[in-house]
Amino acid sequence: MEERADSLPSSRSELEQLPGIGQYIASAVLLTLYNQPEPLVDVNMSRVLERFFGSRKLADIRYDPYLQTLSRRIVNSERSLQVNWAILDLGALVCKNGTPLCLQCPLRAKCKFYKQRTLRQVELPIARVAEATTVYVVASSEDVCTSRTSGSTEIVSSPYSDLELSMDDTPMVDAPSTPE
Ligand code: SF4
Repeated sequence: MEERADSLPSSRSELEQLPGIGQYIASAVLLTLYNQPEPLVDVNMSRVLERFFGSRKLADIRYDPYLQTLSRRIVNSERSLQVNWAILDLGALVCKNGTPLCLQCPLRAKCKFYKQRTLRQVELPIARVAEATTVYVVASSEDVCTSRTSGSTEIVSSPYSDLELSMDDTPMVDAPSTPE
């Protein structure tokens, strides 16, 4: 991708007109090549965000205004790439598909899903998070994202403390019509 950087446009509208480039690829190009704060919203990021903040309304994550607005605000940071990695790493290692490892999670104090499970007194699995050379973690108490590398902690700021949104706080917009 970096080798083609000169030939790829730097706007979403132009990128999405190119064959084979949809929302996710366009976001990846804008984020990695042009350092624009774009969210890499896939099923893993949507799972983490929906568990933490609450569920989306539309089946298609590309067109869900709540999820799109939420993810954009979360990665709106000078270190957007690291914030994206933090959320994706959390989803891969802790907030897994299936049973999340909530007792290992630095976000659990504010997590909607965790609070609901605790209220229902559902037993949570205790498991160790796999060791990794670098693990980007979304932290909770400081309301920032942290990047942990071999015990050291690097702060990656993200304004996600402002994101105590509810579904009703985010205006709904119509999904783009599909070509007939
Ligand atoms: S507390 Fe559990 S559900 Fe919530 S973000 Fe962490 S792992 Fe996911």
